[in-house]
Amino acid sequence: MIIKHELTKDQESFIKKHKISDDLLIDAQGEEMTADFIQKMSDTDKVIAYNTGPCSEDDNHNFKTIAGFCPQCDTGKIAFALRENKPGYLYLAGSRKGELIKVGSTSDSKDRIKNLNITKSKCAGFDDWELLYEARTIALGKAERIIQQKLSEYKAAYQHEKIGKLQNGSELYRCSYTKAKDAVAALESESEMEFTQINERKYLLTEYNFKNLKATVSRAFVEA
Ligand SMILES: [Zn+2]
Repeated sequence: MIIKHELTKDQESFIKKHKISDDLLIDAQGEEMTADFIQKMSDTDKVIAYNTGPCSEDDNHNFKTIAGFCPQCDTGKIAFALRENKPGYLYLAGSRKGELIKVGSTSDSKDRIKNLNITKSKCAGFDDWELLYEARTIALGKAERIIQQKLSEYKAAYQHEKIGKLQNGSELYRCSYTKAKDAVAALESESEMEFTQINERKYLLTEYNFKNLKATVSRAFVEA
């Protein structure tokens, strides 16, 4: 039996302030963000859990986004979580100088590669980013989150500068284009998720078969 907890005043005002609709919330009932719980959130289209265990920064914080972040420590993670079931474009980009593949998403199909290369926000310090693949999905955040999970062992430890716009979530990987594309294909075959308006720049791809290098330090969101 599921016991429905009352929301505290603090929780309620936080939810209200950030305009998080009720149907996106789930009661964690004190549970940690285990892989099973995240799967449950994903299956039921929930994006923020309340009554989670406290966060490492503040005992009074008891929310977690589906990606495992504390939205009270970093309210920027809320918008990110809310994109979970919104439509948009998933893309794979590559830098030959960095031998890096980037998995990113944007709600707007224009200007994304230009944004990667402009000096101020140059991704990881490289200026030769090329768009290799893009596709539209109706659940952008979910697609991005799952693909990033699949590639997590290759995640590059770059402290890259934020591009400035919230909708430009992205991560960098030390892997080949093929590896990243396989993650997209795996997601497609495992779930009902459909990709449309697919644009793969096949003539570029042979240049982007970088080595697949596993990171030595595991990341928090992998363990969750
Ligand atoms: Zn916190």
